[in-house]
Amino acid sequence: MRCRGCKLEHDEGHGCVPHYFLYAGEFYEAIKVGTDRDTFVNDKSLKRCSYCNAPNGTYHHVGCASERCPVCGMAVIDYRGIGCINCGAKIKLSKEPQDEML
Ligand SMILES: [Zn+2]
Ligand SMILES: [Zn+2]
Ligand SMILES: [Zn+2]
Repeated sequence: MRCRGCKLEHDEGHGCVPHYFLYAGEFYEAIKVGTDRDTFVNDKSLKRCSYCNAPNGTYHHVGCASERCPVCGMAVIDYRGIGCINCGAKIKLSKEPQDEML
């Protein structure tokens, strides 16, 4: 399955493009793999996300089951990469409205 964000296969071991969570009119930058807020990844010695294969310091692929929502902190990202099913934040690939893909 190709990633909606970077349009590449996950198993190539690269990180995803920057993406944002839009909530109540504010953009929140996605939480990167292996950072302090990326608490769902228990084994940091992996140095990559065990779900989407993105290396530490890069972005999870859009729709990764392990990605944390930067708004509410829950790992409840919709598997289609639409947004957070807990707080309702929507995943955007750009802060520019004219580049809107959804
Ligand atoms: Zn991931
Ligand atoms: Zn990706
Ligand atoms: Zn959320």
